[in-house]
Amino acid sequence: MAEVEGRLYLKPGRERSLLRRHPWIFAGAIERLEGEPGLGATVDVLDAQGRWLARAGYSPHSRIRARVWTWQAGEAVDQKLLHRRLQAALALRRRFIGPQQVSAYREVNAESDGLPGVIVDRYGPYRVLQCLAAGAERWRQALVELLQEGAEGVYERSDAEVRSLEGLEPRRGPLWGAEPPAHVEIREYGLRFLVDLRQGHKTGFYLDQRENRRLFRQLVGPGQRVLNVFAYTGGFAVAALAAGAEQVLSIESSEAALELARRNVALNGLPAERAQWLADNAFVALRRLRDGGRSFDAIVLDPPKFAPTPGHVPKAARGYKDINLLALKLLRPGGWLMTFSCSGGLSAELFQKIVADAAADAGVRALVLRTMGQPPDHPFDLAFPEGRYLKGLLVARAP
Ligand code: SAH
Repeated sequence: MAEVEGRLYLKPGRERSLLRRHPWIFAGAIERLEGEPGLGATVDVLDAQGRWLARAGYSPHSRIRARVWTWQAGEAVDQKLLHRRLQAALALRRRFIGPQQVSAYREVNAESDGLPGVIVDRYGPYRVLQCLAAGAERWRQALVELLQEGAEGVYERSDAEVRSLEGLEPRRGPLWGAEPPAHVEIREYGLRFLVDLRQGHKTGFYLDQRENRRLFRQLVGPGQRVLNVFAYTGGFAVAALAAGAEQVLSIESSEAALELARRNVALNGLPAERAQWLADNAFVALRRLRDGGRSFDAIVLDPPKFAPTPGHVPKAARGYKDINLLALKLLRPGGWLMTFSCSGGLSAELFQKIVADAAADAGVRALVLRTMGQPPDHPFDLAFPEGRYLKGLLVARAP
């Protein structure tokens, strides 16, 4: 399986991004293919003059036709390479994650950890593997073997939408070892959360918001009224209640998520009567709150990815503007808003402009106190700016 099964020759000039170590080779950059590589097979990538550039995993059905495994001439793509990459990724996490404080985090962040299409998230003793590209899928079994060390069970959540672009069927289920219980309990800076590894969003929890939930907890004051929009299983709600908030209103369209949110409040011994849960469409619910003349001391807006691709950006921009405008109106003067976008196709600059437009339309002066992003267990390689997707602004409404 470690052999090279084909050669991709690029069109003249199209080697430039590869020389800068960008790991994607788009179909349009390819002049011709030699050989008959199967789904996820390893291919060599050469420039128009036939100079070797990289070795990549082949995705015959995807616009991203190949993803680079290595730029080092002669380096074999095999289980040893996967092992080296995994060890490097784990070493990085050991430097930034204290397992006493945080028991759930991302161990492998795909392209940015040199393992294109491979996501590994850890939840206590369990690992969740996602193979999101044909090359990753090809090495699935080898990955499962490597992931056994230091875990009690490995579970698969290769059921993300993007798999269809790679011509891969969705797949989920236990891969090795102990099967996780219906809910796995995790620790996050003194708070506890139940996570559904089987049905939960992504691999079960929005691990990428960990540091921002922590900041939220530090900022919420006792007695405050908090609005938590796009609540999922109550991460920010629990943080606010733990900070002593008087009242936390959460809006979330998924009933199942809210059910778990309630349990998470109880699990932390927090007062259930201070938490209100609204199973509703946020766009509608925010308007209703505005029409009802409600006001809040602190608001968090953590919407799903409105723009999965750059093509969706204009429509997504209107969505972000709409909710930010409503949130700024619902904020009391002197209050603050934590607002996010996890759309990779929408830049931090554009997001800032959208929030600025919302403030202008709301007729409020808004100050950015802090910019936020992904935590260190979700790094992005500077050569791969697509890896940067989470943007956040902490905004104070001037009194
Ligand atoms: N803040 C959460 C993560 C939010 S993810 C945390 O820290 O865990 C975005 C959430 O928005 C998802 O749970 C999704 O179910 C919900 N959602 C998506 N569209 C929605 C809509 N139109 N109205 C309300 N909730 C929505």
